[in-house]
Amino acid sequence: MDYMYGPGRNHLFVPGPVNIPEPVIRAMNRNNEDYRSPAIPALTKTLLEDVKKIFKTTSGTPFLIPTTGTGAWESALTNTLSPRDRIVSFLMGQFSLLWIDQQQRLNFNVDVIESEWGQGANLDALASKLAEDRGHTIKAICIVHNETATGVTNNLATVRRILDDLRHPALLLVDGVSSICALDFRMDEWGIDVALTGSQKALSLPTGIGLVCASPKALEASKSAKSVRVFFDWNDYLRFYKMGTYWPYTPSIQLLYGLRAALDLIFEEGLDNVIARHSRLGKATRLAVEAWGLKNCTQKEEWFSDTVTAVVIPANIDSSEIVRRAWNRYNLSLGLGLNKVAGKVFRIGHLGNLNELQLLGCLSGVEMILKDVGYPVKLGSGVAAASAYLQNSIPMIASRI
Ligand SMILES: *Cc1c(COP(=O)(O)O)cnc(C)c1O
Repeated sequence: MDYMYGPGRNHLFVPGPVNIPEPVIRAMNRNNEDYRSPAIPALTKTLLEDVKKIFKTTSGTPFLIPTTGTGAWESALTNTLSPRDRIVSFLMGQFSLLWIDQQQRLNFNVDVIESEWGQGANLDALASKLAEDRGHTIKAICIVHNETATGVTNNLATVRRILDDLRHPALLLVDGVSSICALDFRMDEWGIDVALTGSQKALSLPTGIGLVCASPKALEASKSAKSVRVFFDWNDYLRFYKMGTYWPYTPSIQLLYGLRAALDLIFEEGLDNVIARHSRLGKATRLAVEAWGLKNCTQKEEWFSDTVTAVVIPANIDSSEIVRRAWNRYNLSLGLGLNKVAGKVFRIGHLGNLNELQLLGCLSGVEMILKDVGYPVKLGSGVAAASAYLQNSIPMIASRI
């Protein structure tokens, strides 16, 4: 269908890219600058210090790479591994699938542990593989913390415990693209060697910065890793860090100011409050889905994601019709079902700079669409369940009450 202008705002509820808050939009509305002037290195220095807080690390070294989440993946892999290295990777949805595809195309020897879509990573299988690997041929474990295609959150503390119990030295590489800054994420405590995210997800910025953080062990591994890398080479960054000029090539000036503003908002709210807010919005969404009589694609509560909910719809309805209608009729953007779950689920993204009434607006739109496509839903049922929970649980902005 051709694009037609619609009045009012677009309700953006895809699980990335997400809404950009006004102060961040304004902070980015500026001219270019000479990035070799003293101003940009001074700004970069504060950014590098402050992004460590969102990874919850003090010992990690961050890199702000002009790229997307996909580039951040490549940075993590090529800086720490050599071609034909054996790695273990979990497949449970479209994003883990794409990362595995990248790992294979980069010539790693990928040992895939597959789960049904809607289930979390099979950590028992990981434990047996590691136990059998007495010669330590497995060089890295790659895991997507939050599988955005199915709304599944994996337990990283358990992955670390398995590695520690077996005293296995494999590196732990974590895709935190739809989790960092929204879900509980502890790089140091969970012994994560490379953690990464993209600016357009929970940080609520435009696309364009891949944030990668390396542990001391990962930096050490990078000294002997033989994968070909040029644009993503951490060494180039480290050389410029040492000189205090920070950039081996041109950063997006506007995005750096945007990142400053985004971090300021997150710290003003408090990172733990940001995480608690996501937990409440996630729970409210799940209560609405339950009230509609629909199923969550995520099969067990322990894997429920607080950043995205994939809703399974009855077989007689095509979920892409729901997404199409949401946009055309209500100016609401929902996430499509991807690959194996295409047509079967639609996704509600509830991450980033977002509040209760915005979410309720989305849920209200979903109800009308469900009715439009012939699913027998009682208008207001999901909104009632969600709002009753939100109203009765700890307020989001406690200081204003
Ligand atoms: C969005 C997403 C990616 C891909 O990021 P791009 O910025 O599109 O390259 C990777 N992993 C997860 C979990 C994501 O949600």
